[in-house]
Amino acid sequence: MSTHRPRIAVVGAAAAGLAAAEGLRRLGWDGEIALIGDEPHLPYDRPPLSKQILSGAWEPQRTALRDTEQIAALGLDLRLGTRALAYDPARRVLTLGDDGHTELRCVGVIAATGVTPRSLPGTDGVEGVHVLRTLEDACALRRRLATPGRRLAVVGTGVLGAEAAAVARALGHEVTLVGTGDTVMERVLGAEVGGLLADVHRAQGVTLRTGQAVTGVRAEAGRAVGVVLADGSTVEADDVLLAIGSDPAVGWLRGPGAGTAGPDLTDGLRCDEFCAAAPGLYGAGDIARWYHPVLRRELRIEHRMNASEQGLAAARNLLAELDPERFGERRPFTPVPYFWSDQYDLKLQAHGVLTGADRIEVRTLGKDPLRLAALYGGDGLATGVLAIGLPPRRTRGLRALIATPVPWPEAVARLADAVDA
Ligand SMILES: Cc1cc2nc3c(=O)[nH]c(=O)nc-3n(C[C@H](O)[C@H](O)[C@H](O)COP(=O)(O)OP(=O)(O)OC[C@H]3O[C@@H](n4cnc5c(N)ncnc54)[C@H](O)[C@@H]3O)c2cc1C
Repeated sequence: MSTHRPRIAVVGAAAAGLAAAEGLRRLGWDGEIALIGDEPHLPYDRPPLSKQILSGAWEPQRTALRDTEQIAALGLDLRLGTRALAYDPARRVLTLGDDGHTELRCVGVIAATGVTPRSLPGTDGVEGVHVLRTLEDACALRRRLATPGRRLAVVGTGVLGAEAAAVARALGHEVTLVGTGDTVMERVLGAEVGGLLADVHRAQGVTLRTGQAVTGVRAEAGRAVGVVLADGSTVEADDVLLAIGSDPAVGWLRGPGAGTAGPDLTDGLRCDEFCAAAPGLYGAGDIARWYHPVLRRELRIEHRMNASEQGLAAARNLLAELDPERFGERRPFTPVPYFWSDQYDLKLQAHGVLTGADRIEVRTLGKDPLRLAALYGGDGLATGVLAIGLPPRRTRGLRALIATPVPWPEAVARLADAVDA
């Protein structure tokens, strides 16, 4: 490949990075694109890891987002198994952690390095302690769950812990789900809906230990034998899954070259409404905290659809910055966030923002408490809507409720219409 063509580097070769690289090509960038990822794999999808991969329903290769021909057609300088070590925004030079510590001069960089799971101190190298972020993580836990009758302690009652608990329980294992909240996914769903979900897990045979902090993993001879709770009790287990949140993978952005004039890395790479963190530096996906001008707040969203949408938006806006005459004006990134989760035979789908709501209105379809729509709001406006177990026709209609900010009473009336229609 010619060294004279201008280069854009996309750092992080997963959902957001792939969307950015594809977006750059689709929008007409004919310079170089270096796609740099520290995992050895072509971009793959993470949501199936806690669902079809963990359950054994899918083989790992099915998570690939594109096949080799599709990737080849993009004409990338693809560097897998390569870590970005540092980026100097003033010189626009990226340093790679390969043998030669290669320096890549770039006209632009899209940061799409996602997040890394948190761990508990003293658990490194302890057999039977797991996190769940990569294909290897999922395959390792799946191998353990292939032996019948295991005892799994899941630490963390967020979406990841809840999904993994559901899969392990469906496989017939003894599952204890431990968390500091009073219900399941409480931070996102609120106490009422979280309580319904907790009932589902209990009914399926999961032991719930809510309102409990885990202080550590108990190990004997280098193998996990349980988790220790703040009240001093122990939950005995053969395997422990730590699903206790994650931290944005920003280390390379505060590398030696970044100096004091580097980007703001508090809770992710801070970006403006165009997903720009600095001239020529854009963020996308789980790593990016950006200003949403319609919702008038900063968001950092760890959801699959956002990764793709923001990857494309970052690509478009970087090109517009580099050559506005050719690529047009930059556009604010104003998505209606979306996520889903599968637990047992329940599908949860949410549009908008649920967290931080100061009011929630729940409406059930008929008498079944698990066929519901819930509206979330703050400051007098509806901000998000959740559907559980609703027919797709009704779920689709709900997005329109919050696509633009709507006064709370009006949204509540429209919720009733949408569910009862
Ligand atoms: C098990 C699991 C289940 C999920 N289920 C759902 C779901 O049901 N619904 C939903 O909406 N969302 C779900 N998500 C969230 C969704 O998968 C993420 O939002 C999405 O993967 C984010 O994509 P990303 O490209 O921003 O980051 P990532 O997927 O984290 O990719 C970042 C990549 O960058 C690499 N990297 C990090 N640092 C460097 C570096 N210095 N140099 C080079 N490369 C680096 C990482 O190794 C990784 O390959 C799930 C996530 C997980 C882990």
